[in-house]
Amino acid sequence: MGFSMLPKVLSQMFKKPWTNKFPAKYQPSNTTKYLKAVGAGEAKINPPIPTPPGFRGKIIYDKEKCTGCRLCIKVCPCEAIEYKEEDKKIKIYIGRCCFCSQCNDVCPTNCLSMGDEFLLADSDPYAKALIVE
Ligand code: SF4
Ligand code: SF4
Repeated sequence: MGFSMLPKVLSQMFKKPWTNKFPAKYQPSNTTKYLKAVGAGEAKINPPIPTPPGFRGKIIYDKEKCTGCRLCIKVCPCEAIEYKEEDKKIKIYIGRCCFCSQCNDVCPTNCLSMGDEFLLADSDPYAKALIVE
């Protein structure tokens, strides 16, 4: 038993790792500096692998097709959708969304869909990028 795993261990040593090298191809010497450089547009992140079909990322909202029926608001378990009385449309707070896709499933006009954007981390939950309207 002791040495039976040895060939497997040795063969694994020469295989490429299955994990995706993200956000940097190689460990930056200073992660904070690296992320600041990315934020300033001076460095680029190593792109993540493509999302699979059916992935549930940031919601896409086709405002023109929305009838303001509010069904999405009724089914949302996170209270992430707000009704805008002024134009009879909706506003989605992605910071509250759990990506369950129920709003997408219930919408009678198919104006909601789950996109493939998932790099949504932000220190401000009400940042412009986290609000869909
Ligand atoms: S995906 Fe789920 S949690 Fe997110 S807004 Fe739609 S119903 Fe709410
Ligand atoms: S369910 Fe669809 S049509 Fe109805 S308010 Fe929500 S987004 Fe608009």
